[in-house]
Amino acid sequence: MSECRPADPAGIAFAAGLLRRGGLVAFPTETVYGLGALATHDAAIARVFEAKGRPAVNPLILHVATTAAGKEFAVFDDRAEALAAAFWPGPLTLILPLRAAAGISPRAVAGLDTVAVRVPGHAVAQALLAQAGGPVAAPSANRSGRVSPTTAAHVLADLEGRIDLVLDDGPVRIGVESTVLDLSRPGPVGLLRPGGLTRAAIEAVVGSLDGPAAAPDEPVRSPGLLLRHYAPRTPLRLGATDVAPDEALLAFGPAPPGGAVATRNLSASADLAEAAHNLYAMLRELDAAGARRIAVMELPGTGLGEALADRLRRAAETPAQ
Ligand code: AMP
Ligand code: MG
Repeated sequence: MSECRPADPAGIAFAAGLLRRGGLVAFPTETVYGLGALATHDAAIARVFEAKGRPAVNPLILHVATTAAGKEFAVFDDRAEALAAAFWPGPLTLILPLRAAAGISPRAVAGLDTVAVRVPGHAVAQALLAQAGGPVAAPSANRSGRVSPTTAAHVLADLEGRIDLVLDDGPVRIGVESTVLDLSRPGPVGLLRPGGLTRAAIEAVVGSLDGPAAAPDEPVRSPGLLLRHYAPRTPLRLGATDVAPDEALLAFGPAPPGGAVATRNLSASADLAEAAHNLYAMLRELDAAGARRIAVMELPGTGLGEALADRLRRAAETPAQ
């Protein structure tokens, strides 16, 4: 059994105690729900990989309450300082050189000499991290390769019985994962994963970004960015302008075509923030509609649309045999 508690002060204190003892706690952030474990607790980290069915080569993002706490295990250069000052707490993850003596479980970083760091901008996450007694590794709280959770119910749908607790704070605000930047080497900052913080906002601080790489699963740069990800069980068809009678429709904008088995509109007013907020919940709903396929309408590729296009492209990949 996995417990579910409201994310009130008592629930957060209980959750922090579990983390300190090596427990697995799912908690809300502004992007998606994360599956937390103390990053210095090797056995807890091993359980995260097991609970998710996550390949051991895919490193975890370490979450801390403050930039100062991040500096205890990661090396910040001027670019990292500028980005942290501009965007933390927020939906931004920085890949930085790891301090080898900091006691981070090698499993958490998949044996790399770099580490992913984020200070999330969510009151519950902040309070939990402040009490956890160390950095908390927290990948999205879903089974590996599947759709990320934006509610506590989504977490339990995937991980019931595999984790100790989920802190329920209702639906998250943004709805897609953090933007991941590579600062592990000098030169232009690399965009490894578009996400909740837009390219334009980041480029205003550090200039033009490099990437994302043509092959997003290129092993050296980011071992975890496997191509198929964020995927419902039903196949996806992207760029749909019409819909077949046995298809479900994930629509965008004021005039979606009719005739689908089931329709969800990401945003009738074509608002990308609203679309991001709705994306994963609607994919789950349409996945349950019994359609042969989910037809997905085209979205603009700018702003938050860059992250949405990335997630939909990965969700539409044919599964590896
Ligand atoms: P997730 O936690 O599943 O949302 O994904 C976190 C992403 O960050 C994964 O795709 C990882 O590949 C990437 N990541 C985490 N740590 C590192 C690292 N040290 N170097 C490169 N990429 C990383
Ligand atoms: Mg994930």
